[in-house]
Amino acid sequence: MTSSSTTYDARKLLWTPSDSLRDANRRKIIRAVMVESATQVNIAKLTALSPATVSGLVNELVAEKILRVDSAGDGERGKKLRVGNVRGVAVGIEVNHNGLAVAARRVDTSAIEFETADFGADQGGNVWVREASQLIRELAGQTGLDADHIVSFGLGIPAAIDPRTGLVSQVAASLDWDLAGDPKQRFSDQFPSVPIIVDNEANLAAYGEYIYGAGRGKETMFLVKASTGIGAGLIVGGLIFRGRHGLAGEIGHLTMDPLGIVCRCGNRGCLETLVGGARLIEQVRQAYAGYRMDLPTSLEAMIERAKAGDHVCRRVLQDASRNIGVALAKVANVVNPDVMVLGGDLGRASDLLIDTAMHEMKLFSLRGMYDHPVPTKLVGSELGQFAGARGALAFALKADSTVAP
Ligand SMILES: [Zn+2]
Repeated sequence: MTSSSTTYDARKLLWTPSDSLRDANRRKIIRAVMVESATQVNIAKLTALSPATVSGLVNELVAEKILRVDSAGDGERGKKLRVGNVRGVAVGIEVNHNGLAVAARRVDTSAIEFETADFGADQGGNVWVREASQLIRELAGQTGLDADHIVSFGLGIPAAIDPRTGLVSQVAASLDWDLAGDPKQRFSDQFPSVPIIVDNEANLAAYGEYIYGAGRGKETMFLVKASTGIGAGLIVGGLIFRGRHGLAGEIGHLTMDPLGIVCRCGNRGCLETLVGGARLIEQVRQAYAGYRMDLPTSLEAMIERAKAGDHVCRRVLQDASRNIGVALAKVANVVNPDVMVLGGDLGRASDLLIDTAMHEMKLFSLRGMYDHPVPTKLVGSELGQFAGARGALAFALKADSTVAP
């Protein structure tokens, strides 16, 4: 039926409408392998299909050369499946307040193209959308294909997304974003026929770590993304846990001190008022007021200085890690995760922060999760500044619908 030279268009493979259950199951398998090469056993786990169904459909897909069997591996079922003669580019983007990160990968390879840019959501309007679109086109070109081959586009934005509608349910007051708007529409002019999947950027960073990084193979994982703002993502059983309005896990607005200072969310004494990026920089500047001129203006610069031995920067970070640890203890008692991941800008200083945060977390949560052969751990991010973009890429590839992710 198909010759060895047939090359499949990934968009057609994944998005051609069909009511057939068999087609839906085939697509689930193709999507799972596009996210990451996997054995039949892993595919069955990822897709929740029975091993017999997976085995039958995999044989079919291999015969059609849509999938191929990796020669390495133990026995037929232990061998990994990879994507065969399929052409397509998967894209993921993480938009932050003051910057963004993009990842692009051909669906038939594991080599990823990355790029970051200094413009982000704070620019408002559609300026960053145009520039980000240009960046995506460039990266798609670097994979050897082009933007016409984009099969899925994962978009992570710094706002809560209502999981039932894909619309924004809450956005930071500092962004001039239209609450009623559909975030996908910002990009649909640039990429009219590309399926766009949108989610909160910290949720997607958590998903990235779950699939490719510090949360691999875990059941329950919580990622705190500590940068300008404090966001978080919770993965339970391979799914992003969002809650009714997409606000689940918003650790940045846990009350740490009911008499503390007012937060940008309108409440008082939130974790973010203690450890948000601007607050940390402000503490350093206050300590050095009148004494030093070359004061850090970004978290990155402050972390560099701490690493170089600056006692003020180190102390501010240490206090921040203590507060993060106390907040994580509250989360730990509620969700009892396998692993907690410290990501975002502070994740880059995890060697300075983890021990203190872990100490506090243990002090204020139940011992049973630590006095156990498989204890709950707090670790640094493995994917760093590309956690969100990689998570967006993987999540959009896996999603079979652009609404209600
Ligand atoms: Zn708050």
